[in-house]
Amino acid sequence: MHYENTHAFARQLDRDDSLRSFREQFIFPQHNGENVLYFCGNSLGLQPKTIRHALLHELDQWATHGVEGHFRGELPWMYYHKFLTDQSARLVGALPQEVVVMNTLTVNLHLMMVSFYRPTPERYKIIMEAGAFPSDQYAVESQVRWHGYDPATAIVELAPRAGEDTLRTDDILQVIEKEGGATALVMLGGVNYYTGQLYDMEKIAAAAQRSGSFAGFDLAHAAGNAVLKLHDWNVDFAVWCSYKYLNSGPGGPSGAFVHERHGDNAALPRFAGWWGHDESVRFQMKKGFKPMRGAAGWQISNAQIFGFAAHKASLDIFDAAGMDRLRAKSLQLTGFLEHILDEINSARNLFRIITPRNPDERGCQISLLTDQRGKTLFDYLAENGAIADWREPNVIRFAPVPLYNSFEDVYRLGKLIADFN
Ligand SMILES: *Cc1c(COP(=O)(O)O)cnc(C)c1O
Repeated sequence: MHYENTHAFARQLDRDDSLRSFREQFIFPQHNGENVLYFCGNSLGLQPKTIRHALLHELDQWATHGVEGHFRGELPWMYYHKFLTDQSARLVGALPQEVVVMNTLTVNLHLMMVSFYRPTPERYKIIMEAGAFPSDQYAVESQVRWHGYDPATAIVELAPRAGEDTLRTDDILQVIEKEGGATALVMLGGVNYYTGQLYDMEKIAAAAQRSGSFAGFDLAHAAGNAVLKLHDWNVDFAVWCSYKYLNSGPGGPSGAFVHERHGDNAALPRFAGWWGHDESVRFQMKKGFKPMRGAAGWQISNAQIFGFAAHKASLDIFDAAGMDRLRAKSLQLTGFLEHILDEINSARNLFRIITPRNPDERGCQISLLTDQRGKTLFDYLAENGAIADWREPNVIRFAPVPLYNSFEDVYRLGKLIADFN
C-alpha cells in the first residue's frame, strides 16, 4: 500500500474505514479537553462504554436476587463462564469445548504447565524466548524448580542472532530440532511483548510435536490482535489475558485453550476444584473428581462475575467487528505509522524500529529502540497528550489499535514526533 504523511491522506483513510464508528464505543482519557492520542492498548485497552451498564446489571442482579442470582435472570451466575465460550472460541480459532475463561493469565499459565510440563530425567527442558515477559520467566523458572530441576540447564532460551532484533523462524525450528529429544515443552508468546514480533505458531507447534514435546503459547499480546487458528494449528494449549487488546478492564480475567485431543483425557494430571467437576453432579458434593469435558474441566473456582461481565461486553464488540476486518485495518494502520516514522527518522536518526518489517510477522505495534534522548521524547509525548509505553532500557512501544485508533491519530502522533527537538 502507498502512504502519504499528510493530514488529508489520513482523513481520507478514516472516511474509507468501515470500522470507524467503533471508536465511538470507547471512552478516551482527556488532555486539554481533547481525546488523548492513545497508543497503549497493548498494555491496557480503553474502556468500552457498554461495560458500565454490564457491571451495574450484575449489581442489580445481586441486589434483587441475592444468592438466587446463580439461577435467575438472563445470565445466571452458575453458568456464567459458558456465556463467554462461543465468543472466545471465535476469537482464537477454537472449538467451543476447547476454551474457557477463568482466573488470570499467569495463574492459567501455571495450571497449563501442571498438565503439559511433566518433566522426566530424559525430557525435562522448556524452550522459550530469551527476555520473555517477566511473569512468564518466573512462572517457567518456578515450575522447573518445583519439579526438582535446575533452570540453568532446563530452560533453553531463543535469542535473536547478533545484530538482529527478532527471531528467525528457521532458527526457532532448528533449536527445537536440536534440543527436541530432551524437551518436554515449547512455550512462546504468540506476539512478543517487546518487539511486537508475531510468531509462526503453526510451524512451531508442528516442530515441537515432531520432537515429542508439547507446544503452548502465551497470547497476551496476540488475542484480539492477530487472527488465530489454535485448533487448526494443532496447538496443545494457550492462555491469554483480557485487559490488553481485549479491553476488559484492569486485572480482567484470562482465557485458556486446551486442544480437543487433550480435553477429554481425564488421566492428564491437573489441579482440580469444584467448578471443573462434572456439572450434573457438582452439587452432590461427593468424593472423587470427575472433570467436565474439554477446557472447562480445568476450572477450579466459580466465576468472577464482575470481571466476566466486563469481558462479555467487550467480546460483543469483537464479534460485531470481526477479527478479519480488524486485522485488515490493523495492517494499514501499523503500515501508516511505520511509513511516517521512517520519514521522520530519515531526517533525524532518532531511533531504530525493532519490530519486524514484514507485516505478516507483526501485530499492531511498532517498537522503537531510541538513544539517550528516548526518555525525553517519551515524556514530551506524554506532556502533549500522546500515551505510549516505555520499556527499559530505551524502548518506546506504540500500539495503533484498529478498534479505536484512527489514521488521524497516527498522523498527529507523527506530527508530534517530527516537532520534537
Ligand atoms: C501482560 C502479560 C502478562 C501479565 O500476567 P498477569 O497474570 O495477567 O498479571 C503475562 N505474560 C505476558 C506475556 C504478558 O504480556
